[in-house]
Amino acid sequence: MKLPEHKAKALLAENGIRIPRGHVVDSAEGARAAAEDLGPAVAVKAQVASGGRGKAGGVAVVSTVEEAAAAADRILGMELAGEIVTTILIEEALDIVEEHYVSIAVDPSLGRPVIMTSDQGGVEIESMTSTIEHTVVPVWGLELTDPITATLLTAFDELDALLIEINPLAVVRDVEAGRELVALDAKIELDDAAAFRHVERFAELDEDEAAGGTEREQAAAEIGLRLIELDGDIAVLANGAGLTMATMDAIVYAGGAPANFLEIGGDAYTKATPALELVLSQPNVKSLLVNFCGAFARCDVMTAGVIEAWTALEPDVPISFSISGTGQDEARDMVRSRLNIEPYPTMAEAVVAAVGAARGEQA
Ligand code: GDP
Ligand code: MN
Repeated sequence: MKLPEHKAKALLAENGIRIPRGHVVDSAEGARAAAEDLGPAVAVKAQVASGGRGKAGGVAVVSTVEEAAAAADRILGMELAGEIVTTILIEEALDIVEEHYVSIAVDPSLGRPVIMTSDQGGVEIESMTSTIEHTVVPVWGLELTDPITATLLTAFDELDALLIEINPLAVVRDVEAGRELVALDAKIELDDAAAFRHVERFAELDEDEAAGGTEREQAAAEIGLRLIELDGDIAVLANGAGLTMATMDAIVYAGGAPANFLEIGGDAYTKATPALELVLSQPNVKSLLVNFCGAFARCDVMTAGVIEAWTALEPDVPISFSISGTGQDEARDMVRSRLNIEPYPTMAEAVVAAVGAARGEQA
């Protein structure tokens, strides 16, 4: 998950790194009010996923409340790297003396985090690469004397981040504190594969997305399952995003319409009972298709989870299985012996059966 600047900065502040005071707004009037509170000199900054906003006109530093409103008016609705600006961050404009650069990112070829620092940060960093110092973080023990880098490395580790970048890390002239280091811009990317270790944080950071979901989708997300509700009448349990999408296509191709889909790969099979409850609780569901294709994922383990859930819930809808790959023979035998159902030999046949069952046709 890539965090927008204001959320990334909030995380930095949580870790004791100084950030400018600021407000997130979505209108020129909001910008005016923010500038009255923080300024009048403020930075007006487009909140989009891409970098390079400064050069593209997505950042304005202004000195009056009127200018803040005008800059907000200009930046809102702007297209930056294909994204329309709908939110802006208004921050107190600080007196910048120097702009530095610091980042920690996982280097996939090394399989280790790499710290990069430069005292020549800012919007020209791409042409300043020769000034960047690289430090590969060893598996054990790296003594960092610089307090900001040390703080960032701890945060990087604790957050399971893939990237933390501060550019510029500004030296500002501060009336009270003299010279101060402030994060003027921040990019943070968290590892989705580690979301299970940060359930609350992900739910909190993901609030926009979660707020857009249906009640069942949110309930699923709360227990770490990914459910998407649709308009059709066939519920789908499949393992892996690719197979799930292929199953959707196959259902439509066979003349059916999916009611929802829930990916039950990974360790989600241990949540088979709530998963099944969720997909079947949609009132329009008339048939259930279980499509497993195992390579690393074991079909017998996933199938056992579904059978247990099915026996516990005893739902009153027809179910069609397609099971191929690792552990398929054991899995198919389990379906036969415990549910008294014959699994289909191919995915295409299971899909056709599920579509037919939704129409009330007998298998
Ligand atoms: P990016 O171009 O997307 O990386 O956007 P940044 O947030 O890094 O902003 C670009 C540039 O705007 C920075 O390098 C700063 O020079 C300038 N800038 C950003 N915030 C402030 C601020 O609060 N005060 C001042 N004076 N300049 C700022
Ligand atoms: Mn920047």
